[in-house]
Amino acid sequence: MLLLLLFFLSASSVFGQPIDTGFYYRLMNPACGLILSVTADGTGLEMVQPSSLANQEWRFQRLSSGPYNYALSSTYLGTAFRLDILPNERIPVMSPVGLNLSEQWTVMISPDGGNVLKNVYLVPGAPQLHLDVDPARNWTPCLSWADSSPSRTWRMLKSRRIDDPAPIPQLKVPPQSVTWYNEGATNYSIFLRPTGQINAILLFVKFDKDPQPPPGEAEQIAKTLLDGNTVSQFYSDQSHTEIQLYTNTHLPQQGQPWKSINNRFYRPVWNESIPHQEYVRAVVASFADEVDFSQYQIVLIAASKASITNTAALIFPPNSQPPESVSHFATFGNDAFDAQPFKHAAHEIGHSFGLPDLYTPPPARAQDWPVGGWDIMSDVFTAQAQFLAWTRYKLGWIANDRYEFYSPTPPEPLTVRGTLNPLTGEYGTVMVVVELVNRTRLLVLQVAPPLPGATGDAANGGLLVYIVDSMALNTKLDTDFRINVITSRPGYSPIWGNRYRAPVAVGETLNFHDSGYNINVFVGVKICASYYYRTGVVWVGALDGITDRAGDGEQITFHSP
Ligand SMILES: [Zn+2]
Repeated sequence: MLLLLLFFLSASSVFGQPIDTGFYYRLMNPACGLILSVTADGTGLEMVQPSSLANQEWRFQRLSSGPYNYALSSTYLGTAFRLDILPNERIPVMSPVGLNLSEQWTVMISPDGGNVLKNVYLVPGAPQLHLDVDPARNWTPCLSWADSSPSRTWRMLKSRRIDDPAPIPQLKVPPQSVTWYNEGATNYSIFLRPTGQINAILLFVKFDKDPQPPPGEAEQIAKTLLDGNTVSQFYSDQSHTEIQLYTNTHLPQQGQPWKSINNRFYRPVWNESIPHQEYVRAVVASFADEVDFSQYQIVLIAASKASITNTAALIFPPNSQPPESVSHFATFGNDAFDAQPFKHAAHEIGHSFGLPDLYTPPPARAQDWPVGGWDIMSDVFTAQAQFLAWTRYKLGWIANDRYEFYSPTPPEPLTVRGTLNPLTGEYGTVMVVVELVNRTRLLVLQVAPPLPGATGDAANGGLLVYIVDSMALNTKLDTDFRINVITSRPGYSPIWGNRYRAPVAVGETLNFHDSGYNINVFVGVKICASYYYRTGVVWVGALDGITDRAGDGEQITFHSP
């Protein structure tokens, strides 16, 4: 017992310290009495007087690499950035998460009761670096390896409790008799769950009235629709490999004629569901002897270029006895062969996962579409090819700790600030959602994805701001949008689509009014590929009560406190 105690006493300066990770902390250095803070540009560190700024608030995340190993992130930049080091320059920096050893810190108790933060990265042949300040350079944060450095001790001051992320509530949706498709929770008794392995097969047919297509036409159509592996890769990328979509192309045998379908199933445009179903049943029946349909959840049917005009998804409702038990189809017409490679197929497959169209039907033109090229469910003809953050959330691809949800309580103004990160990254917040009307209408902020090949305004990037309305039907020319991208710079480009200049750039403020609120979105600084923003939502409507837009008779009333 005595021996054991002696051992612990002699080893006390290297004791690890468990941290209560349920709190934010300020890191005060007793040598100067100042607080460790992230610089406004987000890259460096400085010592400052204590204040309530988010730059000074630190969060410790436990790492599995050691019992007292932590990653440190700031409220200002969020968890996509960590306290890191440049070992050769011996300076601490903020870096995007790269899963490097240098992002890991071991928290130790120093003999005087403070804490020492040792970096896990080892400089060959040298002791571990620890976080320090340099008295000769105005207490600039630095790294030292002198164990005797008097300024290497820090006081960890508990700031406030870290709240659990608030989930987005289930949204109200129109009755299923009106539409299967909406921006609320997906009905998975109808649609495919966009996770795990999904198999699709592409079949080729002609109608009896049409000539045999020329050699190579099937290969050419397959190239336009699927572009090799591109549709699979698109879904893999957008979902962070949550879904593995396999697309199998069933080309007509070399020298063999295409399968020919009876002319009585022919319609140039599929605007009646029953003939569309009959066509699909006839196609499946004609392939039943050579395709094992039990392997597939989605069947894609391309008709020869001579015949069908338009492309459409077809989903058999539950209990409708679909052909060979496959419920999800997309039938391609001449418009798909004119679209950009792979986008039309990606769009139609999106319907199988319950995604609604985001364009408005004719007489609206592409110049009128409220989402333009920002989502593949809106525009498959321009250069952009992504899903919005909201769409990815609806698909279940954005975890609860990757978005922030706020619900204002009028008349109190709501101000939200923080750093938004690109959807391509694996860390930090990618979407901010503010509830404007109870469970139906939302303000959404995200980083604007790059417009491929763009030059000019669209490539400047920034934040994309849009309204999601779960009760909207997208049936009218210029109102009632399911999703509406907000911009003070309207405009259409045949290359990038409508509202391509919408992103709010650094230094800009977007002001608009929606649902009784004056809303402003300010973008302060770009940090790597992320943006620091501030948004204010100020109630200016009547305070004696508003009726929500759900149309189900429920009155939502805001009262003054
Ligand atoms: Zn569609």
